[in-house]
Amino acid sequence: MLSLDLWEKAAQFHGHKCPGLAMGFKACEGAIEELGLSADGASSVDEELVCIVENDACGVDAVQALLSCTYGKGNLIPRLRGKMAFSFFTRENGRGVRLCLKPGCGSNLDRAAFQEYLISTPYDQLFDVKVPPYGLPERARLFKSERCAVCGEVTAEYALRIQNGKPVCADCYDAYEREGF
Ligand SMILES: [Zn+2]
Ligand SMILES: [Zn+2]
Repeated sequence: MLSLDLWEKAAQFHGHKCPGLAMGFKACEGAIEELGLSADGASSVDEELVCIVENDACGVDAVQALLSCTYGKGNLIPRLRGKMAFSFFTRENGRGVRLCLKPGCGSNLDRAAFQEYLISTPYDQLFDVKVPPYGLPERARLFKSERCAVCGEVTAEYALRIQNGKPVCADCYDAYEREGF
């Protein structure tokens, strides 16, 4: 299991201790074990390690603090599904693991006891450990940019739409709402 020094490190980054952070902490433990990462705070070399988070809750901060997957580096990718699930991939060897909190985990415990239970229980008793049902996402790409024809702000190509024959950003685009009617 991961040392409590790492728990303290995660809590310092997050700003408080809570059961949600403990879930992320244990997901990190699972990633380190399952993918054979080094446990010494396992800083990922650039985007070698990629984490897909299926929630936007407290636990994501443990992943950022301990595994150095960050939004800015492009190796922390939100895939919001409202599930306490985390997938980790190593680009080097293409391995991946998905950890999804088991149903009913700690449901009979109060908040403090739940947090303690999470921290002191091996990850594979907390999470279902599976192969991710989706593949490794591509690396962050560089895109050309153009000015939006409406607001004038410079926008990357992938986020532009065509409206009246001109490029417009997503906020200026007047969506055609009949789709899927
Ligand atoms: Zn929290
Ligand atoms: Zn615009």
